[in-house]
Amino acid sequence: MNYQSILEEIYEEIQPEMSKGKVADYIPALASVEKEQFAMSVTLADGVQYSVGEASKRFSIQSISKVFTFSLALKIYSKELYKRVGVEPSGNPFNSLVQLEYENGIPRNPFINAGALVVTDALVSHYGDEYTTLEAILSFVRRLTGEPGICFDAGVARSEMDHGDRNLALAHLMKSFGNYENSVKATVKTYFKQCAIEMSTEELSRAFLYLAFGGKDPISGEEFVSSSKAKRINAVMLTCGHYDASGEFAFHVGLPGKSGVGGGIAAVVPGEMSIAVWSPGLNRYGNSHAGTIALELFTDKTGRSIF
Ligand code: GLU
Repeated sequence: MNYQSILEEIYEEIQPEMSKGKVADYIPALASVEKEQFAMSVTLADGVQYSVGEASKRFSIQSISKVFTFSLALKIYSKELYKRVGVEPSGNPFNSLVQLEYENGIPRNPFINAGALVVTDALVSHYGDEYTTLEAILSFVRRLTGEPGICFDAGVARSEMDHGDRNLALAHLMKSFGNYENSVKATVKTYFKQCAIEMSTEELSRAFLYLAFGGKDPISGEEFVSSSKAKRINAVMLTCGHYDASGEFAFHVGLPGKSGVGGGIAAVVPGEMSIAVWSPGLNRYGNSHAGTIALELFTDKTGRSIF
């Protein structure tokens, strides 16, 4: 299959979509990102990459980071982690407090903010403090990509902290239920830094290859998570990876994936490849508008979907 020409066709077809959607503005540092940008990369098992658009330009990965922290925490805690966070879709906005109150401080899944905060808190308990935790998260991402220069944008992290009342409230609420172990302020800061990690679509699609191949990097042979954990991470991405539009994403695209409010989406075709797409204009669910359409075009044109 000629992936390069398929990506080029998609790039042509999504041009009219790039001006649509709305850049995330609840994080002031992200509000100034120019909307009409697009990049898409595909990485195959042997590491060969195909890309279109601004594929080497780094952007804020935001909630896509939740896949990396979930992977790390599952590796450390295994089933124990599920005592603190579930695996069901929430049917509520990603930063909702309501369900958390009803469900005694146990978040529905690791991809809504409350769940991701618990996961980061569990990592801080394991690594000892927020600095070693952040180093562990960065080193995981750097090992996945082979790119030692990957880092977070301190300005974006600070901007999130300045407007972080809702996330702080989620963490405090969980602490009141006994489902939070460390300092709320320190862990929420770490969570914002992880969200502010910057990667390009080339790097993101490379990073996700382990999830397309049962937890093991097909190039280096390094196992990042066991195959049974990779299966579970992919299942949670499919059912919970796109906020309140996870069903729609499964319906239109048909791949496990995770999006972030920076406009990125990373997805995997199990056994074949990983894909990353970026376009900052978001649809009403907070997923990249052009990015979602591009992925739908990709699975339609290639017939590569899990269904
Ligand atoms: N850092 C963002 C927040 O906590 C992540 C949002 C997202 O990408 O879903 O609000």
